[in-house]
Amino acid sequence: MLRASVTTVLAAPQRTQARPNLTGLTRAQLQATLAESGVVAPDKAKMRAQQVWRWIHHHGVTGFDHMTNVAKEARAAMAEAFSLERPVVSTRQESRDGVIKWLIQLAPGVEVESVFIPDVGRSGALCVSSQVGCTLNCSFCHTGTQGLVRNLTAAEIVAQVQIARDDLGEWPAPEEGRRLTNIVFMGMGEPLYNLDSVADALDIISDNEGIAISRRRVTVSTSGVVPELQALGERTGAMLAISLHAVRDDLRDELVPINRRYPISELMAGVRAYPGLSNAKRVTFEYVMLKGVNDSLADAKGLVKLISGIPAKINLIPFNPWPGAPYACSDWATIEAFAQVLNRAGYASPIRRPRGRDILAACGQLKSESEKVRASVRRASLPLVGRDTDA
Ligand code: SAH
Ligand code: SF4
Repeated sequence: MLRASVTTVLAAPQRTQARPNLTGLTRAQLQATLAESGVVAPDKAKMRAQQVWRWIHHHGVTGFDHMTNVAKEARAAMAEAFSLERPVVSTRQESRDGVIKWLIQLAPGVEVESVFIPDVGRSGALCVSSQVGCTLNCSFCHTGTQGLVRNLTAAEIVAQVQIARDDLGEWPAPEEGRRLTNIVFMGMGEPLYNLDSVADALDIISDNEGIAISRRRVTVSTSGVVPELQALGERTGAMLAISLHAVRDDLRDELVPINRRYPISELMAGVRAYPGLSNAKRVTFEYVMLKGVNDSLADAKGLVKLISGIPAKINLIPFNPWPGAPYACSDWATIEAFAQVLNRAGYASPIRRPRGRDILAACGQLKSESEKVRASVRRASLPLVGRDTDA
C-alpha cells in the first residue's frame, strides 16, 4: 500500500511574466492575439491558430520548438512574443487510496491545489480550484478560513488540467483509455464569483480538437450565487451542483452564510430555472453530514420536500475534519438512515467515500499556504477582490 508522500517535482522554470501566455486563450482569442501581435501575417492567422491550438491542447507542448509543422521563423517569432509555460508544481502528494494532489505555484507566494480522484465519473475526476482561497466563509470549510487571495485566470484553471495530464501521461489527448475523464469545480473557491474565467476555461477544455472533455462531464459546484446560475448554464452547459447542506434558512445562514443574501426559496427557484435541466441532466445537491447539526430524519424529510419535482441526486458528504474544525462527522448509521429516506423518495443519494484524507485532499480540506504571504506582497502584484464578509 502506498504511504502518503511528499515529492518536490520538476525544477521550476523561471517564469517570464512579460510574454503573454497563450494557453488560457479560447480559439477566437488565440486567433485574434496572433493576428494583432504582428508575429503572424493576418491572412495566415486562422491557419496558424489552428496549428498552434492543436499543439497546445492536443499534444500538450510547452515550447514552440515542438511545433514541427510551423515554419522555423514563425516558431522563433512566436517564442519571442509569447509563452506556453505551465505554472510550477511545488509539491505532489499521492495518498494511500490513489488520490493525487498537486500544490501549484502561480506566482511567488500564491498557491492553489488540485486533486485527481481515480474511479470517479467515467474513469477519474480532477477537482480544480477557481480561486486562491474563497471570499465566503462557510463554517465547516477549511478553504473558507483562508480568505480570498485572488481569482484564477482561465490559463491558471486550464493549467491544472494540463498539469494533471502531464503527470498521468495523457498527451496527446487519448481517444480511449484515459484516466482523467471528468472535471469538478469543487476545489478552492466559488466558481460563480469567477464565471468569466471558468467559462473560458471550459470552452478550452471541452474543445474537440484539444483536451476534449465533454461539457456533460464537467460539474460546477456553487454555494448558491443565485444571480449567476442562468449565465452559468447558458455560457458553459456544465452540470450543476449546489452546496445545500441545510433545509432551513436559520441553519443555512450559519453554515453557508451566502444564504443570508440568497435564501433557500430563491436558490430553489434559480435551480428550477437552470438551463437544460432534465432527467438526463440532473442537478446534484451536496449535503455535508455534520453530527447533531443537520443530520436528523426530519432534515432528510425536509430535503425531500424541498427538492420535490427537480431532477436531482443528492451527494451525502461525510464531513472531512480539519485542524480546529468546530464540527464532527455524523455517525455512519445516521448517514445511512438519512440516505434511506432519500432513496425511498426515489432519489439517488450516494454517500461520498472520503478520499485522500491522509493528505488533506478531501472535500473542504484544501487550503494553501498563500495566506501566510504578507498582504502587501500580494497587493503589489495581484488583482484583489474584496472579502465578502456580510454575505
Ligand atoms: N465553493 C464551491 C465549490 C468548492 S467546495 C461550493 O461551495 O460549492 C466543494 C464542496 O465541498 C462543497 O459542497 C462544500 O460545501 C464541500 N465541503 C466544504 N468543506 C467540507 C468539509 N470539511 N467536509 C466535507 N465537505 C466539505
Ligand atoms: Fe467557499 Fe465553497 Fe468553502 Fe463555502 S464551501 S467557503 S463557498 S469553497
